[in-house]
Amino acid sequence: MKIFDAHGDIWCDVLRRRSNGETDIIMKHHASKFEKGHIFSGIFVVWVDTPQHEENKRMHDIIAAMQDELDENQHHLKVVKKFEDFSIAERENKLPIVLGVEGFDGFQGDIRYITKLYDMGFRHASLTWNHNNAFAGGVRGDSDIGLTPLGIEALKILENNGMIIDLSHASEKTFWDIEKHTNGILIASHSNAKALCNVPRNLTDDQIKAISDRNGVIGAVAYHEFISSKREQKNIHRFVDHIEYLVNLAGINHVGLGFDFTDYLNSEALNTFSEESLETEGLTNASEASGVIRILEKRGYNNEDIEKICSGNFLRVIKDVIG
Ligand SMILES: [Zn+2]
Repeated sequence: MKIFDAHGDIWCDVLRRRSNGETDIIMKHHASKFEKGHIFSGIFVVWVDTPQHEENKRMHDIIAAMQDELDENQHHLKVVKKFEDFSIAERENKLPIVLGVEGFDGFQGDIRYITKLYDMGFRHASLTWNHNNAFAGGVRGDSDIGLTPLGIEALKILENNGMIIDLSHASEKTFWDIEKHTNGILIASHSNAKALCNVPRNLTDDQIKAISDRNGVIGAVAYHEFISSKREQKNIHRFVDHIEYLVNLAGINHVGLGFDFTDYLNSEALNTFSEESLETEGLTNASEASGVIRILEKRGYNNEDIEKICSGNFLRVIKDVIG
């Protein structure tokens, strides 16, 4: 059973380590963890943590580091631009990577960046991270700020290009604005159920159903704050409770995995969104991902359903959206 991880921040690690003179970060520090955890691919995003950096410079730095890493590792890594690239990567024994952007903060309101990123191979986008920007309101911004006219324009470009639109960091108003202004599939790559853990980053029942109605997928997230507020529940079993809740509400075809492992982020990056450095027991890093499969089996899920959760559902979305 193979796992597709719909959300990872490894370009942060690539940038940090390359800035210190290291190279081949993914092969040296991540590939063996992926293999151990049965992760064969994922969406790896360029994330611009706005409070800490000058947004535009940070975006250029992280993209440059990503590009250097990809260029130097062409024998090991393959950017997925078309769905068939997954099977080409498998044949060539490479790690297929879907490139994503988490928050348009670095664009400084310049919409032309979207097409530039598409041309570089990006196939996934989230208009915001936690903060408001020129395009939309983020999940930790003012709750009454949704899409701006620029954001509406951005959505058209994303849909026309065939890029996956991600709602995980949208404010509630942005979420419903995006739902109104788009027609195609929508995903939340790394969010859990608010009913089980009431934090802004998790989804209400109506949001979960809306993503399902649009044939999208919700990726359950392993980050401890989104699993439970109770220390004793920050574990892999409670993570699977979220999966079960999502499956019961959205249906088996609309749930996946978007772990958001943070073990490799340095404390400076973590401090931008977390006050506590706690871990999710049983899911501390990518090498433990396959523990989810064993728990789903124990809870009576059959192979076909586990396969959908682990990779099938997100692969269906990618195929439908990027072609
Ligand atoms: Zn995120």
